[in-house]
Amino acid sequence: MARKATQKHGKGHSKKQHSAKVILVKGKRPLDQIQKGVLNNVPIEGIENLPANGKFACLKCDVYFKDYNTLQQHIKTKGHKKRLKEFDTKQHTTKDAEIAGGLY
Ligand SMILES: [Zn+2]
Repeated sequence: MARKATQKHGKGHSKKQHSAKVILVKGKRPLDQIQKGVLNNVPIEGIENLPANGKFACLKCDVYFKDYNTLQQHIKTKGHKKRLKEFDTKQHTTKDAEIAGGLY
């Protein structure tokens, strides 16, 4: 009978849906979008799908950890310190480019 085949199909479909929800994990968003989100306190989309419900997050790096210790380890890394520096510098916007191009 074809029962087994339909089960298999259903599983594959749910897996596909799941992977589509994990867009927020590490370095997928550009820095200016992260800056906007952090500065305007925009709630994180799909937070319930993140490790530990997004409780242990480094918002500036856009990374989420499953426990406090891992987060502390991350804070000590070179990558995180570099990101902190980058975060304080203003990102170039389309408007900047237009001003430079003499459109305003
Ligand atoms: Zn970080």
